[in-house]
Amino acid sequence: MAYRFPPDWLEELRQRADIVQVVSGYVNLKQTGTRFVGLCPFHNETAPSFSVDSQKQLYYCFGCKAGGTVFDFIKDIEHLKFQEAVTYLADRVNMPLPEMANDNEYYERRSKRERIYLANKAAALIYHKTLWEPEGAKVLEYFKSRGLDDRTITMFGLGAAPNNNILISHLKNEGFNESELLEANLISNKKGKYFDVFRNRALFPIIDLYGNVLGFGGRALNDSLPKYLNTSETLAFNKRKTVYAANLLRKQKGLNRVLLVEGYMDVIALTQYGLNGVVATLGTALTKEQAQLMGRFAPEIHICFDGDDAGQNAIDKAIKIFDDAKITTRILVVPDKMDPDDYIRKFGKDKFNAIKTMNTITYRVKRAKKGLDMSVDEVRVNYAKKCSEILAELDDPVEIESQIKNIMIETGFSREVLLAQIAVEKPGIHKAFIKKEIDKKRTISKNTTKDIDIPAAEQLLLAVLMSKKLPFDTFDENLFSSELLKNTFKEIQNNKSAALILDETTKEEDLTVLNRIFATVVPDEVNELMQMAQDCVIKIKRQKLSDELKKMQENLNNLPQEKQVEEMYKATKILEQLKKLT
Ligand SMILES: [Zn+2]
Repeated sequence: MAYRFPPDWLEELRQRADIVQVVSGYVNLKQTGTRFVGLCPFHNETAPSFSVDSQKQLYYCFGCKAGGTVFDFIKDIEHLKFQEAVTYLADRVNMPLPEMANDNEYYERRSKRERIYLANKAAALIYHKTLWEPEGAKVLEYFKSRGLDDRTITMFGLGAAPNNNILISHLKNEGFNESELLEANLISNKKGKYFDVFRNRALFPIIDLYGNVLGFGGRALNDSLPKYLNTSETLAFNKRKTVYAANLLRKQKGLNRVLLVEGYMDVIALTQYGLNGVVATLGTALTKEQAQLMGRFAPEIHICFDGDDAGQNAIDKAIKIFDDAKITTRILVVPDKMDPDDYIRKFGKDKFNAIKTMNTITYRVKRAKKGLDMSVDEVRVNYAKKCSEILAELDDPVEIESQIKNIMIETGFSREVLLAQIAVEKPGIHKAFIKKEIDKKRTISKNTTKDIDIPAAEQLLLAVLMSKKLPFDTFDENLFSSELLKNTFKEIQNNKSAALILDETTKEEDLTVLNRIFATVVPDEVNELMQMAQDCVIKIKRQKLSDELKKMQENLNNLPQEKQVEEMYKATKILEQLKKLT
């Protein structure tokens, strides 16, 4: 891994962020000796093959071969890059990043942010409680009229803001002062008087990936404007950086797509009907940061916006943003211009899931045709040109071919003419190709990683030496046939921890081997360890000698007569050595 963090600092973080505690946040672990076992969070299983070694501070799954340090665990389970995983863990254990260590302003900002989270959470609880009280009856009625059941209402923490100010007195009782509530944008100050920002509204708490309440979306119940009001930006809330229902996204494993819809109610209704991975933007157009966040959780994004023109225009913009972020996107158009929320309530989950999605090219070609009068020659020419422009972005000949067929029928132009037009438009950059390469990378999972062919005895010997209970000078690096094991042997000898060795290993196939070796269970007793090590050494030496012998036999016939005798003499010597080794 590339180091941006000083190794000492990283080591301290590793110690503070104890792997057993961190993993316990995700997996139910049971202790056996220095190991903890549980069901693997990275693949589906019914019998536990996932283990955490508290001594080595490593985890390993004997089923899917996932393994590594606490940083790898967070990286994989939270879908983060290595550096993000480190930052995330540092944040969890309250360890300032190296560059922040002496920055007082950072601490101040940070503690203010924490206070806003807490105030928001307290407010969310008050609003949710109010929903079930007489003051919240109108809001509850609204949610019920949209078909939401109690379980869903609780799952999303929905709430009611009554027509009067309820926050200030409640939150002051809980230890918050006015300036904190102003910073959280929960209250406003008009001519020296404080008012709740949300009044007479149905409230949707906006929660981030980690369960922090960032702010609220509020829908007016009467004709007040704006109809939708979101918490304005605070130290803790940046609308561009998160999506609605991000907290649920993180809990849902192995999504094959994230479904991006327009409104909070769409997210909630689709989730109630059993769909996973549904999110919405926060009342603004899609941003690059949001696209990247979604891209972390599934290999493709399906966009499902409202059937009106505004919704369809928003799709055009979203396609561009996902394209730029190199994220595969498909479009889901709900029939009859219905909103997804209305559709699923009327027809149910299965019907909704059966709606065919289309790739963005098909969608754009369809869009280009909309409202055109194809009986006019000029219109047909322009349409054909527009389509060629879109198809020129494709590199997949099969896809181009299938699209061209439709355009031929619609425009009356021949295949050759259309292909010629595409060739004119074809830009230098092969966008579609680049995207495919990236997709390939994204779908390579741990268990498909190629395993290097390393003799089992060498691997076991290294595992035994990893115990650091045997004198290293009785073993020689040349016992190991691969550079990887040779180097690792030297690193163990230099007292490097297994976790550090893994952090410094970059090649995926090397990691697979090392993870397995470090996870091997070896005896505690020194005598047993020594016996095991000696057995390994004998096996390794025998293997080397018999390999040598085999090679000699293969070459024997190619040698001149006198050389053959010499070789056979050598061979008997090797055989003698081999016998001694049994
Ligand atoms: Zn596994």
